[in-house]
Amino acid sequence: MTDGPSVQEVDAVAREALDRLVVDVNDFPEPGIVFKDITPLLADPAGFAAVVAALAAAGRDADGTVVVDKVLGMEARGFILAAPVAMALGVGFVPVRKAGRLPRATYAVSYALEYGEATLELHADAVAPGERVLLVDDVLATGGTVRATRELVEKSGGSCSGVAVLMELGFLPGRATVGDLTVTSLMTV
Ligand code: AMP
Repeated sequence: MTDGPSVQEVDAVAREALDRLVVDVNDFPEPGIVFKDITPLLADPAGFAAVVAALAAAGRDADGTVVVDKVLGMEARGFILAAPVAMALGVGFVPVRKAGRLPRATYAVSYALEYGEATLELHADAVAPGERVLLVDDVLATGGTVRATRELVEKSGGSCSGVAVLMELGFLPGRATVGDLTVTSLMTV
């Protein structure tokens, strides 16, 4: 049996794809924000596959054994990345949605945005007590989304093994906000 590419090799291919295929959009959705548009990356099959493989590594231990029971993706770009990561790991995918979108009983957590408040919801039976989950999203910015999602998982009786993102915005306090949660970020910008 031949070994597959190492984690370092997978990361290097993913970083190259991110460099080449994520487009900065100035002043979107409002003045002063540089929006990281991942749609060209998603449209590139090799680039998309590379970042999914690199994110999925966060759900395995050093021997390659899968150490999570579920992968959670946050609305909306988190869904696009978390679903193939879950399939790569052979575990279930769970959506975390904005308020009012999930049809059955939910847990809800509200958190402060720069202006106003947002609420995220998780189906109450989506994460079983004792399950370990990996959170997946495209960008870690202030960390509020990840912190709220972790609270949802803990309300369910589960625990977060970590969060895996394509990019973290190094000028914002995302890592400090998420506290002791392990952050896997393919790139800091
Ligand atoms: P935060 O809760 O501040 O960490 O924001 C993270 C969420 O907002 C993620 O779901 C991202 O998709 C989105 N986000 C924040 N900043 C950006 C950005 N500059 N470009 C693209 N998405 C962003």
